[in-house]
Amino acid sequence: MTAADLQIQPIASAGKSRRGPVRRLRLVVVGAGFGGLAVVRGLKGRKIDITVVDKQNHHLFQPLLYQVATAALSPADIAAPIRTILKAHDNVHVVLDEVVAVDADGKVVRLASGRSLTYDALVLATGARHSYFGNDAWGVHAPGIKTIDDATRVRRTVLLAMEHAETFRQARSALRDDYLTFVVIGGPRGSRWPAPSPSLPGTPRPWTSITSPRAASGSS
Ligand SMILES: Cc1cc2nc3c(=O)[nH]c(=O)nc-3n(C[C@H](O)[C@H](O)[C@H](O)COP(=O)(O)OP(=O)(O)OC[C@H]3O[C@@H](n4cnc5c(N)ncnc54)[C@H](O)[C@@H]3O)c2cc1C
Repeated sequence: MTAADLQIQPIASAGKSRRGPVRRLRLVVVGAGFGGLAVVRGLKGRKIDITVVDKQNHHLFQPLLYQVATAALSPADIAAPIRTILKAHDNVHVVLDEVVAVDADGKVVRLASGRSLTYDALVLATGARHSYFGNDAWGVHAPGIKTIDDATRVRRTVLLAMEHAETFRQARSALRDDYLTFVVIGGPRGSRWPAPSPSLPGTPRPWTSITSPRAASGSS
């Protein structure tokens, strides 16, 4: 979408007409991911009022989620407050809320808090969740990683498995091997998922007696 699509006037020509002041166009952008932020950045300096609504207060750099899941990075390394990112945009107002409905006829966005926002133009950039392609039961055993919560849950599971492997290293080697075997299912993201190392950067005391975990991967 371009400024021309939205019939937005540049700053130099906006403000007044012979009939009086021109009301500024109200744009609501739902989602401050890559898509939503690209729209807002493209409209910097335009004489319009932009409201960015996101249910999180941070923008998340999803491509590095797998590094959080394997303790190579901390969540704060890949998340930045939306307000900070957009602080130089004078025409932007940031709202922390969840959009629960859109009344397209009335041009109103309804929020979980009970509030609503009226718009002239609306951008829905709410992203996507992962899919199990009809096998949703797999989610219990193989959670996807799309959010910080997803990544820290996987990280907890991986680190606990490493701890158990360390505990069982002598007495029950078969069990130890089970704990050191990770199966990664997926496409490009899955293949980039690194095998966790005994010297994980986020680990203050590396494991002493386990060497390299095994990783098997497949693609769906
Ligand atoms: C692990 C992983 C690795 C990836 N690696 C790459 C890569 O290497 N290269 C690449 O190009 N792409 C990669 N991607 C994909 C890329 O990150 C996504 O395509 C991109 O983030 C999508 O951007 P988006 O703005 O559409 O959605 P998102 O980034 O998902 O943003 C959507 C936003 O909308 C908000 N939102 C959703 N619903 C509501 C609601 N109802 N109300 C208010 N707010 C809402 C969310 O909180 C979120 O902030 C990867 C993705 C993942 C998960």
